[in-house]
Formats: sequence, C-alpha cells, structure tokens
Amino acid sequence: MLTIDSAIRDDIAAVVERHGAERTSLIPILQDIKKEHREITDEAMQVVADLLDIHPVEVYSVATFYAFLHGAPEGRFVVRLCGTLACDFAGKTAVAEALRTALGIEFGATTDDGVFTLEWASCVGMCDQGPAMLVNDKVLTRVTPAKVAEIVAEYRAKGADETRQDIVTARNELTYAGIEPDAGLKAALALSRGDIVDTVSAAALKGRGGAGFPTGMKWNFCAAEKSAHKYIICNADEGEPGTFKDRVILRDFPDLVFEGMTIGGRAIGADMGIVYLRAEYAYLRAHLNEVIQRRRQAGLLGKNVGGIAGFDFDIVLARGAGAYVCGEETALIESLEGFRGEPRNRPPFPAVAGFLNHPTTVNNVETLASVACIFAKGTDWFKSFGTDKSTGYKLFSISGDCEKPGVYEFPWGITVADLLKEVGGAGAKAVQIGGASGVCVPAADFARRLAFEDIPTGGSVMVIGAQRDLLDVAENFLEFFVEESCGQCNPCRLGNPKLLEGVELLKQGTCSAEHLADLKALGATMQVAAKCGLGQTSPSAFLSIVGAFADDVTTRPQRA
Ligand code: SF4
Repeated sequence: MLTIDSAIRDDIAAVVERHGAERTSLIPILQDIKKEHREITDEAMQVVADLLDIHPVEVYSVATFYAFLHGAPEGRFVVRLCGTLACDFAGKTAVAEALRTALGIEFGATTDDGVFTLEWASCVGMCDQGPAMLVNDKVLTRVTPAKVAEIVAEYRAKGADETRQDIVTARNELTYAGIEPDAGLKAALALSRGDIVDTVSAAALKGRGGAGFPTGMKWNFCAAEKSAHKYIICNADEGEPGTFKDRVILRDFPDLVFEGMTIGGRAIGADMGIVYLRAEYAYLRAHLNEVIQRRRQAGLLGKNVGGIAGFDFDIVLARGAGAYVCGEETALIESLEGFRGEPRNRPPFPAVAGFLNHPTTVNNVETLASVACIFAKGTDWFKSFGTDKSTGYKLFSISGDCEKPGVYEFPWGITVADLLKEVGGAGAKAVQIGGASGVCVPAADFARRLAFEDIPTGGSVMVIGAQRDLLDVAENFLEFFVEESCGQCNPCRLGNPKLLEGVELLKQGTCSAEHLADLKALGATMQVAAKCGLGQTSPSAFLSIVGAFADDVTTRPQRA
C-alpha cells in the first residue's frame, strides 16, 4: 500500500476537479500532471485511480502507452528531435550529435540540473523544414549543428518557452483561399439533412486521409442510426511520416474545417464535434480554440446553429498524447474515451457504435475543409478538378530531396513526373508515396498518376535522390513501425522487427535468397493478417523496395 503525501493528493485532486472525475478525462488529467510535475509517479497514479474509481493498473496501462506521458522524470525543457526520413535526409544525425555535446547527455536522459531532457520524436510534422525538433510545445525548424549551442544557451538563460517558430504556408495558391467564409455552411443549412448527404455523394468526395472511403456513404451510415447522441470527429492526428498538409489547413483555414464539421454534424444528426489534435501540434491549440470561441459568439456553434431551431451543435478540442496508431479511427476513439490507443475489432463500426458507444463519423481535416468548399461552390465546380474516379483537388506534403519542399495543391491525376517538375525534384531515383506506410515508386514509373485509380495517397510524397540508399529508407520506416506498433496482434508486433532484421542482413550482404523470399511472404501475410491499417501497410515500403530495386538491394558485398 502506497503512503501518499497529503500535498500530492491535494494537487492531483485539483487537476481531477478541473477536468472532471470521468474516464474520458483520464488522458487530459495525466497530461496536466505530467506538465506540472514532470513525471507521473506511482503515487499520482494511485490518487487518480482512487478519484476516478478505477484500478491503478488501468491508469498505469494508459500512462505507459503514450510517448508524451510515460518515462522517467523530465527536465523543464523536453527536446524531441524528429527521427524520420526527411529530417534524416536534412542532417538529423549531425544535429543529434550537437545536442548530445551541448547538453552532455544521451537520448533518453535528463541533465543533472533537471533543465533538459533529450528524446527522439517519431515525426513532428515538419518534414519540409527539417531537421526539426520540439522543445516542449514549440517547434524549431531547419536546426543546424551550429545553431544547437545557441538554442540551448537561450533556453538556459531565459528559462522560457520561447516561440522560435518559422512555419511556412503553402507553396502554391490554395483553392481554400478563394472560398467565401461560411458560404458553404449557409448553403448546406438551407438543405434537408438528406440533401446534404446527397450533395457530398454527388461530388464523389473521397476521404483525404489516405483510405479514400466515400464521405457521403460514411455519413449515410451514421445518419441512418437512431441514438440520443451522435458525434463527428475530426481526425487531426496527422502522424504519418512525411505528412504535414493538415498542419497548414488547421493554421490557415480552420474555419473551413469547423464549417465542414458543422455541415457533417447537421447531416448525420450529431450534437457534438471533437477535433483530435496530435500532441506534436500543441502549438496550434490556442489558435484553434480562439476560432471555435469566435464561431460560438457568431451563433455558428452552440444552440440553434445558424438560426435553425433545434440544431444544437458544438465543437471541442481534444489533445493526443503521442501515439501514431491513434490516427486509426477506432484507436482514436479508444484514446478519447481514456484508454490505450488500441484499434478495436470491427464490427461494430464507429457509424454504429463509436465514441461512448454512440454512432460516430471520423473524417480527416482536409476532407472536412473540402466539404465546406463543395457547398460554397457546388458539386459541378468540385468535379471540374481531378479525374472521373478521383474528383477535386488534393493537398500534397512534399519533402525530401527536392528544391522546393512544402505543401502544394494539385488536381488529382497529376503524374509523378509533373509533380517532380513543380517541386524541383529532378534526378530523383524514387519517390515514397503515402508516407512510411505507402509505396516506393521507382523512376521508371514516374508516368503513373496520383489518383485513387492509380496510386492512392493521403498526399505524402517523399523525394528520394540518386545519392540515397533505399535500404536506409526501408530501415528508417521499419524502425518507426517497430516503435509505433500497439503490440495487440502478432503479425505486426513480431513481423515488423523481423522485416527490420532482414533489412540489416541485406545491408550486410548476408541475407540469402531463401530468407528474402520468406521475408516477402511475411510481408504479404502481414498485409492481410494484421488487425489494423498500421500493420497491414507497414510492410509496403519494404516490399516495394525489395521488388523494384532487387538488383540494388540484393547485391551488397558481404561486410566483414
Ligand atoms: Fe496494433 Fe499493429 Fe495489430 Fe494494428 S496491426 S492492432 S497497430 S499490433
């Protein structure tokens, strides 16, 4: 039995009171404890468990699942250097060395004076401006080894969480910029709920998060359910390495996202919208909350929205806690409910039993912004962009070996070659499309189109220059998946480390043809046998690299 200091108990009780003694408050409670006390001790977990009337093991299981909650006591400033591919290409290794030297500690450690903790981050969503790192909630971009000492000295001297952000906007003109504010919402609210869904279906809008599920169909499923409460969730957990387009939408066009949520809420009969914002985008929270508040004051959220009697709909912001798997919609819902972000068995699907068992629709940020545009400008206008099977335009996150990385808008159907011309990617030997979970497309296939009918994608394009080793690419992605697998199912938990080990053997020139054939079979098995999209897609890059670049990856000289 733990003896708990009364001051600690009072402190924790104040945090719990602020959030409410509900299971859904568990993660916000733990986030505040971590922020205020820099660690979540056994004592704190016991008090939280007592106050929420749950077993301490449940608190422990949640606190140890999320990257931003678990771990040893942290320093006042937690430096998280992004470890993913684009930051790797941009020179993360040298920055890591400079950080080790400047702080005098290894990754995973805290300085003796308790000022700095140094950690790796899976992806901070700044792939166009790497090497990038977070210091607490603030993001620092284009960090060089020479700048590291200066940054450390500045934080030490001022002791402040200074803003040094240099977040650029999109590289080309976005259609969003020309959309009249709330024109889409006004047009949608003049329609019946059924006509709203039919309009989205007529526009043939497909989900922009990567899976491409028809939005109208998704809304229809949820609209058909009868329930006292329904929810529409905006999935702003943009954690796919190489993907950062939602960051730009959330910062520059949040009204369109909230408009889309309100239109969706009206269509499905929801009374609440929730934005699940990834932990790494914490710096956007204040801005988003201000916009939500402004919309409430304008009568665009709250009671009788838009003057429609009985249409009560509000939006709240929820914080992720650092788990890539929460981008999967059922894991996201588990997280919102205060549990580990472990994907659920389906059925039931969220449209039937989602958040708190109520019918729930989960849409990507860009999908919701597109909804607002469709109602503002019409379905014919929307369908005038793109292809027959991939209507509209798309935001792309371009990073890696090109002259002009950043967020771009292109119509669906653009070829890889044309895209590379726009971004200054001449000489690329491959592009990784769809993030770490996507496919590696060789130069011979650059005539292929980015569209659901050819290469479907959530919009991430990582340009891989001639100087790169594709086994390094596969290694980087597999390390990411080993770290981010929730561990629930064997194909993913055991398969990813096995594939990673295979990449090491290929690099050493010691992977036999038989073993490589086994690894390919393992990857194919994972694609069908893993429980969720993470494990089903994690072998994709490996399989495409050992397939398209077989001559390169299987002919390495054996290392001594
Ligand atoms: Fe968890 Fe991976 Fe299985 Fe998904 S595939 S449930 S992330 S172990």
